[in-house]
Amino acid sequence: MFDLSQFPLPFEKSALAPYMSEQTLACHHGRHMGTYIQNLNQLVQNTKYADMPLDQIITQSAHDDAAQKIFNNAAQVFNHDFFFHCVMPNGGGSVPDKIADAFGGTDAFKSEFKSAAAAVFGSGWAWVVIDNGTLKIQTTPNADTPIAHGMRPVMTLDVWEHAYYLDYQNRRADFIDAFLDHMVNWGFVMGNLD
Ligand code: MN
Repeated sequence: MFDLSQFPLPFEKSALAPYMSEQTLACHHGRHMGTYIQNLNQLVQNTKYADMPLDQIITQSAHDDAAQKIFNNAAQVFNHDFFFHCVMPNGGGSVPDKIADAFGGTDAFKSEFKSAAAAVFGSGWAWVVIDNGTLKIQTTPNADTPIAHGMRPVMTLDVWEHAYYLDYQNRRADFIDAFLDHMVNWGFVMGNLD
């Protein structure tokens, strides 16, 4: 059994305002992520997934057509916990050289990430990943996650509407800018490169 208390927000709910409001975080972490956890607990009961750690549920259910709902909820738990660690108060700003250099400079990195995140049609995620040793920008639809495809996640932005609609309505581009300029936890991101 998983519990939301195993995946606490690493900052106060009000700490990212005005870029991500307390109301958004209460709803996003408490209700959306909370519901994925509740659903996952119910779905894995009496299945081979019941006692597995989260990452193993994800990698195994990704190749099990009968376990699509289990995959979706497990992947969303992982994706959200990872996302909430990718943001922090007074974050963002200057892109570390190791990331910037891999994409041809700060402006090129930001531009590629913004375009990718803006181009996700409907719900999904924008990522920086390590794929076969190379840093890349990727997007995934819905609940899909790099760890189901053998890639290592380095950074992510949730671009489901629930992540930004209360604060930005339809202006996803402004949310992406606020993420890069004011919220990215570069310490966590850089730690994922090692
Ligand atoms: Mn979300």
